Amino acid sequence: MTRLDQTHNPKLESWVHSANGHLDFPIQNLPLGVVSSNNGSPRISVAIGNQVFDLRKAVAVGLFKGQCSKLEEAVSGETLNSFMALGEGPRQALRVRMSELLARGASEQDRAESCLHDADNCTMHLPAIIGDYTDFYVGIHHATNVGNQFRPDNPLLPNYKHIPIGYHGRASSICPSGAAVRRPKGQLKQPEALEPQFGPSQRLDYELELGVWMGPGNSLGQPIKIAKAAEHVAGYCLLNDWSARDIQAWEYQPLGPFLGKSFATTLSPWLVTPEALAPFRMPQTPRGESDPAVLPYLASATDQREGGLDLKLEVLLLTARMREQQLAPQRLTLSHTCHMYWSVAQMIAHHTSNGCNLRPGDILGTGTISGVDRTSYGSMLEISGGGKNPISLANGEERSFIEDGDEIILRAHGVRNGYVSIGFGECRAKVLPAI
Ligand code: MN
Repeated sequence: MTRLDQTHNPKLESWVHSANGHLDFPIQNLPLGVVSSNNGSPRISVAIGNQVFDLRKAVAVGLFKGQCSKLEEAVSGETLNSFMALGEGPRQALRVRMSELLARGASEQDRAESCLHDADNCTMHLPAIIGDYTDFYVGIHHATNVGNQFRPDNPLLPNYKHIPIGYHGRASSICPSGAAVRRPKGQLKQPEALEPQFGPSQRLDYELELGVWMGPGNSLGQPIKIAKAAEHVAGYCLLNDWSARDIQAWEYQPLGPFLGKSFATTLSPWLVTPEALAPFRMPQTPRGESDPAVLPYLASATDQREGGLDLKLEVLLLTARMREQQLAPQRLTLSHTCHMYWSVAQMIAHHTSNGCNLRPGDILGTGTISGVDRTSYGSMLEISGGGKNPISLANGEERSFIEDGDEIILRAHGVRNGYVSIGFGECRAKVLPAI
């Protein structure tokens, strides 16, 4: 696991003034993304306060002289795939160098300043070309709540505590934060109807998830052992797994999610590195006393001790009427990554246990991370009890599911005494009417 070093020092401040006290991007974070400014070509950049730092420019003006040439080449490209493939060593080296360049009193401040752009003038892209996307189901309260709606006597299926459940998602429809989402049409069958109809989904929902970006990965036929799994994580983001519950309910048997999921997935655009998250590690939440022991390929004492994440997760809603009334987004949910029944290392060890290869830039979703009560549920399906109990918003509106014009915003923050808090930036998208 990543150790703490001078880059985590809570006293460290940046000469980029907006970074000091910034809720997401102080100098202790330094996430990477792909950004274009003023209609230029996409550049790999680092977020610092309300600025972005252009790494290709920094290489061109000689700020990375003496660093490994592979790193210089990887950060000069238009996607982060090559950088993700390099793994831990070069990623740490970049972090140390960025911390040095952006720290107050840096001797090369003048040259570094020439690499900055206002984030407001920038367009964010997906950080990598995503070959494959897999969505897990590790939020145990979500699995229990959803199971309860279908099987009140037996909410968790018997496999849940033995195997990290997942399915192969759709990579082509993954969009960066800010891109609007079109309400899908599909086959819908009302419970009392004899035949399905085709039309716009009436039960559009979001799912609050953490996204895991893969680093080096494995060759086909070569599983990643759980002890090595953490070395294959390039970083984290927020993931909204948009879900059309009515399409999903009709289509999912016997092969699982398909068109109810594949119309859109939204990601926050910044790659928050494992190094930035080092202060926000915690033990994996203990399994219940009556839970079965895990099979050896999923067992690691180190992973149980420090493989958990200590991140607060939020969902906010901004409706069209709230925008007209100039109201701020309303928080629907405050949850936490401690509600993951399986760790990220267990997800990776399980995914590759049959020899399946994961590649740099692949993304894994954790599954919806819900807490134990309605204030911490990570989907409208849970909050409204399948549509039976709409929630009332502060301006008098009601919601059971997501309406056209609604904007869903996910946020995540690491907060711990003795450390500077960091955040992920927003994962935001507005829903457009079906066409
Ligand atoms: Mn999901």
